[in-house]
Amino acid sequence: MTSQSLLDGLVASARPLAAQGKPADYIPALARSDPGAIGAAVMHVDASLVVCGDARVPFSLQSVSKALALPYVIDSLGEEEVFSRVGKEPTGDPFNSIIRLEASRLKRPYNPMINAGAMVVTSLMPGATVEEKLGAFSRYAAPLLGVARLDLDQEIRDSEAATANRNRSIAWFLRDLGLLGAEVELTLDAYFGQCALLVDAVGLAHYGAVLARDGLEPGSGRRLMSPRAARVTKGLMQSCGLYDGSGEFCVEAGLPAKSGVGGGILASARNRLGIGTYGPALDIRGNSLAGVHIIAGLSKGLDLFCL
Ligand code: GLU
Repeated sequence: MTSQSLLDGLVASARPLAAQGKPADYIPALARSDPGAIGAAVMHVDASLVVCGDARVPFSLQSVSKALALPYVIDSLGEEEVFSRVGKEPTGDPFNSIIRLEASRLKRPYNPMINAGAMVVTSLMPGATVEEKLGAFSRYAAPLLGVARLDLDQEIRDSEAATANRNRSIAWFLRDLGLLGAEVELTLDAYFGQCALLVDAVGLAHYGAVLARDGLEPGSGRRLMSPRAARVTKGLMQSCGLYDGSGEFCVEAGLPAKSGVGGGILASARNRLGIGTYGPALDIRGNSLAGVHIIAGLSKGLDLFCL
């Protein structure tokens, strides 16, 4: 079991690190996040919870939504449909890179954890309108995050939509390659919407605990997602979940994890627990400085390495 003092100590030692980074500002609404905020939550598979700091402060999922959209589409359409359009390999490139779409032999995104692959996944979400797509996705994702419903931050969504020239370029390129399952604007609207859904560190810890038991709700053991969707998602989190910092994070923490530029990180330790962290001060790759420190510290302190 995780002790309160271990978590408190890691949050305290993360504070000076956070001063070395800053919130994402390429989405203007995110630049207003408090760079000094730090929160962490650990949920064990029996549903017992340990929290510290700003663990209940809401923030937008951003790329952590990729670790929810992927299993949703796998559970809705089947794995073959998804992976006929997107690969399972890391890139070592930044999350929003477009370069390999044309330069590589594959002519499809390398994995669903980079923006290009995530947009393909979003385009496949069932539904003819953005409301239908996001409504059904939210109904799948809410129990995984341990909440009754998911709210969307409209200001963050609009702020991203107004400035997303690079994501628009990627989406049009994907259309040219014939990889999108929906029209470009619908895909982009749904993608910005899933990124703007609000969560907190406790919610991420809950999902980490679900993944820890391959899809079973912490405590009750109720099945929330297929074991295969959980396995595939964890495999891609392990290899591709922290952008072009995934290899280094794997060496330090040895856990499947997914970060987002909203400041959240989700991690999962098999049969043990889930971890959720919040710290909007990011390193140059877009990963939360405090979050990486806290998860690596928990992994060492609790011997969570899966490798
Ligand atoms: N909505 C963000 C984007 O597509 C998510 C990026 C992230 O969290 O890595 O740029």
